[in-house]
Amino acid sequence: MNTSEPSGELPSDCPLLVIGGGPAGAATAATAALAGMDVTVVDMQDFPRDKTCGDGLTPRAVHALTRLWGGDPAATSPRTGTTGVLAGRPSIRGLALHGFGGSVTTPWPDLPAFPPRGSAVPRTQLDAALLDFAADAGARVVTGWKAVDVTLTGASTAGVVESVTFRRGREERTVRCGTLVLAEGVRSGIARKLGVQWLRGMVHGIAARSYCPTPRGDDPWIHSHLELRDAEGTAQPGYGWIFPLGDATGGSDAKGVNLGCGALSTSKRPAKVNVKKLLTHYADQVRDEWELGEPEDIASALLPMGGAVTRVAGVNWAAVGDTAALVNPLNGEGIDYALESAQDLVEYLPDAARTPRGLADIWPAHLRGRYGDAFSLARRAATLLTMPGLLSAVGPLGFRGPLAPRLMGAATRLMGNLVTPEDRDLTARAWLTAGKLSVGHDRFRHPESRPLFGA
Ligand SMILES: Cc1cc2nc3c(=O)[nH]c(=O)nc-3n(C[C@H](O)[C@H](O)[C@H](O)COP(=O)(O)OP(=O)(O)OC[C@H]3O[C@@H](n4cnc5c(N)ncnc54)[C@H](O)[C@@H]3O)c2cc1C
Repeated sequence: MNTSEPSGELPSDCPLLVIGGGPAGAATAATAALAGMDVTVVDMQDFPRDKTCGDGLTPRAVHALTRLWGGDPAATSPRTGTTGVLAGRPSIRGLALHGFGGSVTTPWPDLPAFPPRGSAVPRTQLDAALLDFAADAGARVVTGWKAVDVTLTGASTAGVVESVTFRRGREERTVRCGTLVLAEGVRSGIARKLGVQWLRGMVHGIAARSYCPTPRGDDPWIHSHLELRDAEGTAQPGYGWIFPLGDATGGSDAKGVNLGCGALSTSKRPAKVNVKKLLTHYADQVRDEWELGEPEDIASALLPMGGAVTRVAGVNWAAVGDTAALVNPLNGEGIDYALESAQDLVEYLPDAARTPRGLADIWPAHLRGRYGDAFSLARRAATLLTMPGLLSAVGPLGFRGPLAPRLMGAATRLMGNLVTPEDRDLTARAWLTAGKLSVGHDRFRHPESRPLFGA
């Protein structure tokens, strides 16, 4: 597929319509097409397109890509014959955590459910490759059309979606659809019309990324600086990252490393920081060690997190990826959840088509079951981190002393949500139990958090 030009014709009617061709939309379209469904995915931009991101892929993301690819994502897909999305990409061995006078390098944990491999791919390339995969799988891919309106049969948002109106320049077209998937990312205009509201008071992120030339672009570790200080020396609740992008042969936009930083914010303790300035300051601090050139293409964006939205589904529509706020509050990752939620949703479509309530109950129930406990706990931990002074007080305990490697090993695993209900080890059991307690606490003490995932 040539993704560099507006492509594909909008149909007037389609059984399954996906708005947004990022990881969530591309994975929905690919999975549906591979299951034999007639699916159309529409994005307002032409590909390749940029998406402000750290470009980092943890083992959870590699696992989700493996499931989508039907095998090793570094090899040609046996399902479609598409070139490996991770072919020639860096193989990241784990996390190097820095801060509070120490540095600890921790390999990815050896777990049955996740491969011990991460990677990093510029989103211009990752997203175009995923959309190509969807096209190879048989999905109709249409770019350059923006969804601007949605029509329902009933008077309220509880009705059934009938059609979506798209605009390109002055031209407008209406597409009737059987089922609608919202994969619009953070700026979810159609989702808002359907009653999906981001709960902005809850913990969320604000982050900036850049590309920096460096001779260390093939470093095998993702680097996280957990002691993130602004130019005045104030510790910020967040972290700085350096994600090596390999040997920078992937195109003009692969420039050594993706360097960025993010801060956590709540309505009680809003982040009072200019993340683009913070990024420049952070780059200055690591410049000598990394022989960094100037940060290029600096861009910032907000991250809704932890499922903090009021609704995720109606009878014949459902939200996936960032539109459903599926971002891990502890590390800002969302690509893996975008891919997972997309693939899970397609598995529910046949069942939903057989029941009068359709997706309205089963999709929120699925998201609560899959992510509710972990996201509740992660939101709670992330909210704690916004308390002034807390990080500076506990940080040194994690980085110094004989227990540091073990503590940071556990932190690497928990920050990446590399825990499944099947895990029986102590760390996993403690985390899973704490997740259940956290959800109980939400229900009892914070009724305002009940609408998460439309509960
Ligand atoms: C600074 C920053 C750093 C991050 N770093 C990481 C990281 O290192 N690793 C990680 O896993 N996650 C990271 N994330 C999160 C990650 O970028 C998102 O979770 C991920 O992009 C979600 O994918 P998505 O498909 O849901 O949405 P998107 O990738 O945003 O895709 C949405 C698509 O929908 C299209 N669209 C929107 N509205 C319309 C419309 N009305 N009509 C038609 N098309 C429309 C857009 O053009 C876009 O292509 C980061 C986020 C930020 C802001």
